Amino acid sequence: TTQDSKTADGLKQPAPVSPKKYSGHKEKATFVTLARNRDLYSLLPAIRSVEDRFNRKFNYDWVFLNDEEFSEEFKRVTTALISGTTKYGVIPKEQWQLPDFIDKEKAANTRKEMAEKGIIYGDSIPYRYMCRYESGFFYRHELMADYEYYWRVEPDVKLYCDIDYDVFRFMKKNDKKYAFTISIKEYAETIKTLWETTREFITSHQEYINKNNMLDFISDDEGYSYNLCHFWSNFEIASLDLWRSDAYTAYFDHLDKSGGFFYERWGDAPIHSIAAALFLDRNQIHHFDNIGYYHPPFHSCSVDEDVRMKNKCDCNPADDFTWKSYSCTTKFYTVNGLTKPKNWQIYAD
Ligand code: GDP
Ligand code: MN
Repeated sequence: TTQDSKTADGLKQPAPVSPKKYSGHKEKATFVTLARNRDLYSLLPAIRSVEDRFNRKFNYDWVFLNDEEFSEEFKRVTTALISGTTKYGVIPKEQWQLPDFIDKEKAANTRKEMAEKGIIYGDSIPYRYMCRYESGFFYRHELMADYEYYWRVEPDVKLYCDIDYDVFRFMKKNDKKYAFTISIKEYAETIKTLWETTREFITSHQEYINKNNMLDFISDDEGYSYNLCHFWSNFEIASLDLWRSDAYTAYFDHLDKSGGFFYERWGDAPIHSIAAALFLDRNQIHHFDNIGYYHPPFHSCSVDEDVRMKNKCDCNPADDFTWKSYSCTTKFYTVNGLTKPKNWQIYAD
């Protein structure tokens, strides 16, 4: 048996009780976080929440990516909180700068116009690098090479419920390739030509469009226009193969060459969502109602009390965004013929 130890002031300290390292089957999966050194302390509670609710039971790895070297403090402090192996990578410079084919003046004009209109991040260059990186590069980073699935985590997020089963195994066993908690409509101003650019791609690449696609989630007129619905990508549990596929590689290149990341302010969320809706079988996309999630300013908190109690959720269903009119999740359930939780209408606005 383990012995008590002595504290600095000479008191007896009972031996610590800590969870055993997980020794069961694990998927090839990792958490992934893109962050700056200064994000460290807003990231810690997010990491802590993911560890407490899920990862302390499974000990999955965690990959951190940054456009500059992580500080020793960042590495030391995050590693201390994470039960799996932590890895820290720098993004190759050429993936975090204006590509050669971008007209600098045209991009600067857009930023000025968007700033004047008060569009969030409209004047930011790094935000655009971030969106382009999350759209087309994170899954190609060498630290991601060994993995099949990832779960994206950002600063300031929180999980509300216990997850007692392996969500990556859930993805694999059920052939799910993309999973979300919150969906919402995009600011039209940031993606003025995204849909026409996507339509060019669809027209010239019919071979990549899934026969059982989910076009009816992203378009209300059979593809003529985009209805702005997208999965909120600050939370994603997904298959890396989706982004590594020929279809997505060609799609990203087509979008990238059009310049919309810089001439507009295309987000990775609508791009990931449109790709998932077009290239996957609709049955491969999953909504998690039982995780409970917060990224400012929206909450996902199951309106089904049985789900909240079973999973020890510490959230208020009155805050739930899922069934509100600005959310697209009601549409997701409707177009896929899924059963909505009982009482969902009480929480709709
Ligand atoms: P929002 O959720 O759209 O408001 O954007 P965030 O500020 O949360 O940024 C999204 C993610 O990218 C977060 O994980 C940030 O830590 C990360 N991020 C944003 N900008 C940068 C940047 O310039 N450099 C790095 N390394 N990470 C960034
Ligand atoms: Mn964020």
